[in-house]
Amino acid sequence: MATRFLFDPPRRPKPKTGPNIKSLLVRCPSTSKLTDTGRTIEEKRWPTAKIKTQKFNCAHCGSVHTWTKKDVILCRYQ
Ligand SMILES: [Zn+2]
Repeated sequence: MATRFLFDPPRRPKPKTGPNIKSLLVRCPSTSKLTDTGRTIEEKRWPTAKIKTQKFNCAHCGSVHTWTKKDVILCRYQ
């Protein structure tokens, strides 16, 4: 009796093709704590993103800070 081997095609987990979204954090100059600016960006767009000077109300010290692109720390968006 011949044995037939049936091969399943290897199943690859589907790569996540969704955009890799990052949160934009900046460091509070008064408390040195990281603060979420509430903004997000697709990671691959970050190197070419043009960002003007922004302001945000800091949750740590209560004042308004300005930030530009160089102040930003990209963090994984939850
Ligand atoms: Zn602050």
